Amino acid sequence: MLTPLYDAVLLDRDGTLVEDVPYNGDPEKVRPLPGARAALDRLRAAGVRLAVVTNQSGLARGYFTERQMHAVHARIEELLGPFDHWAVCPHDDTDGCACRKPAPGLVHEAARALGTAPRRCVLVGDIGRDMAAALAAGATGILVPTPVTRPEEVAEAPAVARDLPGAVAEILRRARAVRPVVPRAGRAGTVLVVRSDSAGDVLVTGPGIRAVAAGAERVVLLCGPRGRAAAELLPGVDELIEWRLPWIDGSPEPVDPDDMRRLTARLAAVGADEAVVFTSFHQSPLPLALLLRMAGVPRVSAISDDYPGSLLDVRHRAPVGVPEPERALSLAAAAGFALPAGDEPVLRLRAGLPAPAVDLPAGGYVVVHPGSSVPARACPPERCTEIVAALAADGHRVLVTGGPGERELTARVAAAGGTDLGGTTDLAGLARIVAGARCLVVGNTGPAHLAAAVGTPVVSLFAPTVPFGQWGPYRVPTVRLGDAGAACRDTRAATCPVAGHPCLGGVDPAAVVAAVRRLAPG
Ligand SMILES: [Zn+2]
Repeated sequence: MLTPLYDAVLLDRDGTLVEDVPYNGDPEKVRPLPGARAALDRLRAAGVRLAVVTNQSGLARGYFTERQMHAVHARIEELLGPFDHWAVCPHDDTDGCACRKPAPGLVHEAARALGTAPRRCVLVGDIGRDMAAALAAGATGILVPTPVTRPEEVAEAPAVARDLPGAVAEILRRARAVRPVVPRAGRAGTVLVVRSDSAGDVLVTGPGIRAVAAGAERVVLLCGPRGRAAAELLPGVDELIEWRLPWIDGSPEPVDPDDMRRLTARLAAVGADEAVVFTSFHQSPLPLALLLRMAGVPRVSAISDDYPGSLLDVRHRAPVGVPEPERALSLAAAAGFALPAGDEPVLRLRAGLPAPAVDLPAGGYVVVHPGSSVPARACPPERCTEIVAALAADGHRVLVTGGPGERELTARVAAAGGTDLGGTTDLAGLARIVAGARCLVVGNTGPAHLAAAVGTPVVSLFAPTVPFGQWGPYRVPTVRLGDAGAACRDTRAATCPVAGHPCLGGVDPAAVVAAVRRLAPG
């Protein structure tokens, strides 16, 4: 493991490394983009391996020969230095191959050739096809737009940098952020970790909590009632405390002074040597930090843009847009904790989850989860119904899942050709159902992160109310659908502010069928 997050950077060729000269077979016409050589050398110096992943349909169309292409590549290496692998798709769109981007084949090939996994790769490219290929393989994508990049491709991208040097700076910054600046002298005693929100929030904090657990004798997790079921699934947690925090809860009760006194006493009873308070970027850790101080916790770490005075010992800052699991890992690192070698920075669940109470079909199935804890992030029911019908017509066994409060919804959606499992399982049971699926079709809600935690590919019907790069399924093969440029973008709205819910109402069921084929071929 050369960096904690990545082993390799995969680079698109035309428009990313060199000027895009259409169907170029002439080495004389190779022009590197500004700063490319120095940026690549920074990655080489950091021990990151490099590969080129490039669509060259000019071969299929007879515009240049393989020999001419190799001459172009030799010239690129002369100007930009050596690459550890060249992955080339020689086909065009009519061939239906598995390698032409947006298919993920070149990413798989390059990762294999470099001796790593796609999830430990970043792909830098200038168009939407590059980003789609990266996501479909479970790799990280960074878009470096050029004048030909379409605005919707920029809106959909998981991350955007100004140019290749900017992308490289971001890759190295992310890798550095999860490494403790000051490593600990020894193990910490009891550490109180906090993540007070819904299931998805708790799941994406998992890697940060595992990092703390790796360097502590004992980990106590304070969570909210809506995150309790997810907290029970996390590895590394020795004890759970469930408490509703009125400054975090989405529909908060008034602050009850007696309740706060009881919470302070409960926190004091933990006898923690320190606390690490995980939050989302719009949440404040400071009210809890005050209670932790009153409970006598001597060291408190949190991310806070607001001035914390003496409430925090470690005041960490994290830029907006970083994937939530890495944001949590960066706070753990600031507190002196890192994932041990061998523990990948991916979402994970405890081993040995109980089997669900329902019989699962053998031979493969697709799960559609139509509900969401936040209405603005749910695909409209009539659209989910059409998606189930389209998947069934394409020959899939479709299971429709949902919580106990979503039975009416799941019954309606499943009637189009699926099996209704609404309300039949708890979160652990849902995890097992999703783990057995070829693919999960779901909005930006808890089960998407559950899928990431069990390694099941996700067709993400993603309302752009929050950044995809921050909240999209982490390090698992994904296809993003939905209008990323819709008017609800970055509003964090809980209820869609736009009539007709256009960001998800316009999802084409045929696109879902195609996405399932891309993620789970055969
Ligand atoms: Zn191909």
